[in-house]
Amino acid sequence: MATACARAGRPVDSVQLLAVSKTMPLPSVLEAMAAGQAGFGENYVQEGVQKIEALRAWEAEGGRPVQVAWHMIGPLQSNKTRVVAAHFDWVHSVDRLKIAERLAEQRPAELAPLQVCIQVNIDGGASKSGVAPEEVLALARAVAALPRLALRGLMTIPEPQSGFEAQRAVHARARTLFEQVREAGIGGAAFDTLSMGMTADLEAAIDAGSTLVRVGTAIFGAR
Ligand SMILES: *Cc1c(COP(=O)(O)O)cnc(C)c1O
Repeated sequence: MATACARAGRPVDSVQLLAVSKTMPLPSVLEAMAAGQAGFGENYVQEGVQKIEALRAWEAEGGRPVQVAWHMIGPLQSNKTRVVAAHFDWVHSVDRLKIAERLAEQRPAELAPLQVCIQVNIDGGASKSGVAPEEVLALARAVAALPRLALRGLMTIPEPQSGFEAQRAVHARARTLFEQVREAGIGGAAFDTLSMGMTADLEAAIDAGSTLVRVGTAIFGAR
């Protein structure tokens, strides 16, 4: 990440690292936490909630109190929104208004607003989640108007591309969309997150303007 930031002429603290801990057990999360990692991403609702609760139990049993943020990054069905709204700090995978409305309605009042990103199907992959690029502005406007949610940005998962330039070209399209939403003033100053880049393409994503890379394999090893 530091090398990619230097190459792009960006300050190293302009990109956050989200550790994707899906399929990894709690001890792996604790090890990453001990090394200073503060944000974790989970794909599967049930697994994520179990880990969040296991961490709370570990703290209650005398583990060191921790301040970590849990990010839901996997596809979200409407029957799972309640448990997500009650446990997670962030959701990156909002791709339709109905999901956002449910999250807003179900976010417990005693918790901080749920931080959300809109997932964009940036390359038109047929089987993929995400709103079409031309629908992003309208969805962003509608989500930004909901209570109990803070619209933070956009998220993409492009089809795998080999080669820096091919990867960068797709990420650059997401960056352009991100700037369009920002320039329209949607979400205000809180709209600051472009969640893109994984183990295989984080350098290209950072070069194109990512502010948050979601990295599993390069941190925890193969799943
Ligand atoms: C699994 C996953 C990642 C991390 O992928 P790696 O290639 O292991 O870094 C990032 N984002 C999403 C949405 C994922 O599902």
